[in-house]
Amino acid sequence: MRVSQLFTKTLRETPAEADTVSHQLLLRSGMIHQVATGVYAYLPLGWRALRKLEQIVREEFDRIGSQELRMPALQPLELWEKSGRHHAFGQNLFSVVDRRDRQLFLGPTHEEVVTELVRRQVRSYRDLPQLLYQIQTKFRDEPRPRGGLLRVREFDMMDLYSFDCDWEALDVSYQKVKQAYQRIYDRCGLPTMIVEADSGAIGGKDSQEFMAITDTGEDQVICCGQCQYAANLEKAQSVKPKVPHESALPLEEVATPGMKSIEEVSGFLNVTKSHTLKAVFYSADGQIVFVAIRGDLEVNEIKLKNALKCTNLHLATEAEVARAGLVAGSASPLGLSGIKTVADDSVTEGINFVAGANRADHHVKNVNYPRDFKVDVTVDIAAAQPGQGCPKCGQSLSITRGIEVGHIFKLGTMFAEKLGAFFLDQSGEQKPIVMGSYGIGIGRLLATVIERNHDDKGILWPISLAPYQVYLCGLGMDRPDVVAASEKLYGDLQAQGVEVLFDDRTESAGVRFNDADLLGMPLRVVISRRTLTDQNAELKWRHKGESQTLLLEGLAEKIAGLLAEPQESFWDNKPSDLGSKSCPS
Ligand SMILES: [Zn+2]
Repeated sequence: MRVSQLFTKTLRETPAEADTVSHQLLLRSGMIHQVATGVYAYLPLGWRALRKLEQIVREEFDRIGSQELRMPALQPLELWEKSGRHHAFGQNLFSVVDRRDRQLFLGPTHEEVVTELVRRQVRSYRDLPQLLYQIQTKFRDEPRPRGGLLRVREFDMMDLYSFDCDWEALDVSYQKVKQAYQRIYDRCGLPTMIVEADSGAIGGKDSQEFMAITDTGEDQVICCGQCQYAANLEKAQSVKPKVPHESALPLEEVATPGMKSIEEVSGFLNVTKSHTLKAVFYSADGQIVFVAIRGDLEVNEIKLKNALKCTNLHLATEAEVARAGLVAGSASPLGLSGIKTVADDSVTEGINFVAGANRADHHVKNVNYPRDFKVDVTVDIAAAQPGQGCPKCGQSLSITRGIEVGHIFKLGTMFAEKLGAFFLDQSGEQKPIVMGSYGIGIGRLLATVIERNHDDKGILWPISLAPYQVYLCGLGMDRPDVVAASEKLYGDLQAQGVEVLFDDRTESAGVRFNDADLLGMPLRVVISRRTLTDQNAELKWRHKGESQTLLLEGLAEKIAGLLAEPQESFWDNKPSDLGSKSCPS
C-alpha cells in the first residue's frame, strides 16, 4: 500500500474527546472513526489489525477442535423469556419492534440462541462434547461508553460455547479453552492475569477473567503475592480484621450532638471504627433494604446485589427512605421491623458496637448481635481492601488495576434446563447438557494491546497484529535514483510476501518519521541519497533506539527472514515496562 493513496490521514493534535491512550492513538493514526457515542467504524489500517487478531483467535480455537458457526444478531424475545435474562440485562438490551409488532433484541450475547441450536442437534451422549464459536457483532446499551474501543455499544466479540455430559467433562473443556485463551494473549504480546470474577448478568456458577494489568484499567484486582490468589474487586474475599475479645456490656444510650458519620461518632466516643455499626439503606428493585456492616468496612454492591438476587440496586434516596417510614442519618438495626435487613458477617465478629438510636443526636453503645437485633440474612457483603488478609493463605493483599480482556464461565445446566436442551446418557436416562460460555471482545483486546504497547510517539504493534509489517520510506522522492531503488525494494518485499506500507510522499523526513512512529509498524526501512552512496538501506525496529545499515542486494529476502524470526527480544526491549503476570507486591 502506498501512503500517498491511503484512505486515512494522521492527526497531529490529540482529539479532545479521547480519554485513554489507546483511544488517542487509534484516532490520531486514523485507524478508527467515531460514528455515534460508543459506535465506531474501523478504517483500513485498524481493520487490517482487527482481522489479524480474528485470525489468531480462529487458529487457536480450531486447534482445540472448536467449530466456527455464525448466529444472528437479531434474537426473538421468546428465547429470552425462556431464560429470563432480559430482566438481568435490563436497559443494556437494545430492543427493536418489527412491522408485525414483535419484539426482538440485538444480541448482547448468544447463550439462548446457541442452546436452542444444540437442543435441535444433540440427542445422545455420543453427540457430546461440542465446542462452538463465532466472531459476531454484539450490542449492549452501555450507560457510560468510554475509552474509545474499551467500552462501546456495538462491538465484535469472539464467543465460544461448550456442551458436555457432566461437570467433569465441562472441566476438561474449560481447561482447553483457557489454554487457547492463554495462547491468544501470548501471540498478541499481552501478559494477562487470571482472576476470579463475578458472573453478573451472564449467570452461572464459576467464572474467571483474564486481566491485562495497566494503570488505566477500569477494573480493580485484589491479589496475593504469596499464593497467587487473585480476584476482581467485585468478587474478592478477604479475612476481615479481627477485633480483640471483650465481654458483652449492657445497652447504653449516649448523646452525640451533631455526630453523624462513622468518623465523627468513633472520634467523639473514642472507639475504633471496628466498634461501630454502619447502617445503609438501599433500594433493591424498588424495595427498601436495611444493610448493616462493621464501621471499618465498606459495602461491596455487587456482593449485596447477588445476596439479594436483585437486578437494580442503588443507595436509597432520602425520599425513598422517608416513604418507607424511616429516618435517614440516625438509622439503627435496633427495634427495626417490617423491612428487609441484611448484615455483613462482620457483625458476628465484633462486640459492643456503637449504633444509631433511631433518633437524632443519639447513639446506643454496647449493641450486640444477635442479642439486641435480628437480621434476615448474614452474608459476606464487604469490599476486600488491600492490607487485609488473603482468604487462601492469610498474607497481606494488594490491589492493582486492569482491563478485562476475556471472561470465561462455567454455566452448568441453567440454560439447558430453561431451554430444554437434554440428551440421553449411556444408561438411556435423560439429562440436561452442561454448558460453558467464553468471550473475548476483539476491539477491546486490540485497544488493550495499544494501552500496553506504545511510547510518547505512537503505537508499537507486535508483528502478529501490525496492519503492515514494514514501513518503507523513500527520502527524496524527487530524485530518480531514490525512486528507482525504493520502488524496486517495494516490489521485492511484496514478492517475498512481506506486507509493506510504502511512504512515497515528498513531505519532509521529519513529518514522515513522525507518521511512521505514530502508526507503529514494527520495522522501518529508509532509502535516501545518503544510503544509496553505498547501495544500502537503513533499518530500524520501532521498539529499539538504534538503526542498522544493510546492503540493498538481497535485502527483501533478509527482511522476510527477520520478520519470520521469533520476536521474544521485541518484548525485552520495550521502553515501557510490560509488567508481570503475577501480583505486584
Ligand atoms: Zn494468599
